[in-house]
Amino acid sequence: MRDVYGVVGNPVAHSRSPEIHAQFAQATGQALEYRRIEAPLDGFEAAVHAFRAQGGKGLNVTVPFKEAAFRYCARTSARSREAEVVNTLVFSPGEVYGDTTDGPGLVADLTRNLRLALKGKEILVMGAGGAARGVVPSLLEAGAARLVVANRTVQRAQALAARFAVEASGYAELDGERFDLVVNATSAGLADAAPPLPRSVFKPAALAYEMVYGRETRFLLEARAAGARVTDGLGMLVEQAAESFFIWRGVRPETRAVLERLRAMKNAG
Ligand code: NAP
Repeated sequence: MRDVYGVVGNPVAHSRSPEIHAQFAQATGQALEYRRIEAPLDGFEAAVHAFRAQGGKGLNVTVPFKEAAFRYCARTSARSREAEVVNTLVFSPGEVYGDTTDGPGLVADLTRNLRLALKGKEILVMGAGGAARGVVPSLLEAGAARLVVANRTVQRAQALAARFAVEASGYAELDGERFDLVVNATSAGLADAAPPLPRSVFKPAALAYEMVYGRETRFLLEARAAGARVTDGLGMLVEQAAESFFIWRGVRPETRAVLERLRAMKNAG
């Protein structure tokens, strides 16, 4: 019987994780099945229990359950404890282990795929939810010279900033500030909205990174109009998936061909 994995979230229909893991499995010769599981907003634990009862070996966790997944785990990685989020669950008899691969996934996409050296860079992260919490420690570790977290609810940015010893800001206060990299870790793009970012925040040759993937969000449109280089979060998705695959199977899949194939499919259809 093939080992079973999956992604749990709400909504989850749009997730491209099943095709990514199917391609990793094929390329590495691993026999596994990967399912999409939509849990009710108040039903994360029940959905995970049911999956484990059927012999499931591991789950990716997406919006809005990453904090709940952290609380669900008996044992977690150091980086998960730092961010208090889990996006990768590993099930073995009697134990649940959790890790978070969003931070390493973003850094791998920025440095390897997009060839952006992060050392010494001034970085703005928009958002203070699970995704922002997951990536801030990795961006600092990669050598950011300055990191500012901006959020609609400024108190959440302040809490995150205090936790990681970075700066907090509202959006209006960013007027006059300049960054090499602006990461949109908000979910605004899913609702066809964008944080109210001053146009002037992009340094010449700045990169605007939208974590949402597969759609032309308002942040991408506005950043392009302001002269920034732009990218969506598909590369991060593939890289964080590769890290999860490694945690589960002990094999590190190649990502470049998978990313190119996904981009080609999107452009074709
Ligand atoms: P979350 O915990 O629900 O946090 C959402 C964040 O977005 C909060 O900071 C919220 O601000 C902000 N926000 C929502 N609507 C906004 C608006 N209209 N204007 C300004 N700010 C707004 O979600 P998450 O887990 O952090 O995920 C955030 C996004 O990243 C999601 O869209 C997710 O799909 C994406 N993501 C992508 C990848 C990838 O691999 N590409 C990985 C992880 C996450 P308040 O605090 O003020 O409510």
